[in-house]
Amino acid sequence: VLDAARTMRENHISAVLVFDETENLRGLISERDLVQTIVRFPDDVANVPVHQIMTTELISCRPSDPVVETLDLMNNHHIRHMLVTEGKKPVAMISIREFDYATKLLQKDAHTDELTGLHNRRYFMEMLDKEFERYKRFGAPLSIAMLDLDKFKAINDEYGHQGGDQVLITMAKLLLGELRAYDIVGRLGGEEFAIVFPNTSIHDARLACYRLMSAIRGYVLVTDQGPIKFTASFGLICATPQAKSSNSLLHHADKLLYEAKASGRNRLVIDHSQQAASETKKEAQKG
Ligand code: GH3
Ligand code: MG
Ligand code: MG
Repeated sequence: VLDAARTMRENHISAVLVFDETENLRGLISERDLVQTIVRFPDDVANVPVHQIMTTELISCRPSDPVVETLDLMNNHHIRHMLVTEGKKPVAMISIREFDYATKLLQKDAHTDELTGLHNRRYFMEMLDKEFERYKRFGAPLSIAMLDLDKFKAINDEYGHQGGDQVLITMAKLLLGELRAYDIVGRLGGEEFAIVFPNTSIHDARLACYRLMSAIRGYVLVTDQGPIKFTASFGLICATPQAKSSNSLLHHADKLLYEAKASGRNRLVIDHSQQAASETKKEAQKG
């Protein structure tokens, strides 16, 4: 048993197969078996032979079996490892851990925008929903910005779709680089992005947006077709108790973004009724 435990530890695995001298499969020994051995033979663990504790009636699956069925089978039998056989020959072992890992990967894919690695629209909306719920319960300020690259069509026309894609990827890097780890950044589609600033007053969110705008303005993206410079327009709001839904918050920010576009682009427009609050605080800090 001690040998089996050592093998498992050295290889970072949670179960091993047991073969006899003629290479016939005899059983499986798992971490759980080891734990039970310690409980059953507290004074003599080291001398317990593997065959005394191994599982001999092995449930197996085939490489072509559907993952979901295999997982069901493991759950129904309360086992964490399953032998994979071809004909009668053992070819591999699969553990619950691998399923967990696969599920996490799939989940991450479903949440991520492929081009930029940012949250995609659906996941961003989920996160915004959660933050809005939290806002309604605890009332800490919640700010939301929407932004859209200016004249992006012209960038595509001049530098090609690939050039445009590089700008989008760069934009994602600038966003992640300038914002705090707990700000939530998503690509809503095309060249449109949004930021949730949890626990952040409109004043502080506005400073963060200005910092971001100046990082975007100052950035020169070097490409094979030459240097590309770009700007973005922003609409910024702070959640109010009157807001009906997270959708309506985003809609509000989008309206202000449209104003930023209409009034010349490369600028930030704040909700007019909240502008005063942001300015007052700025003056107070200056004074
Ligand atoms: P405005 O300043 O008013 O926002 O003008 P704009 O040109 O940025 O806006 P418009 O909506 O006219 O054009 C957006 C362009 O973005 C058109 C579309 O082809 C391009 N686009 C959308 N998604 C992608 C993408 O994934 N990659 C690239 N390269 N371009 C994209
Ligand atoms: Mg645009
Ligand atoms: Mg757009």
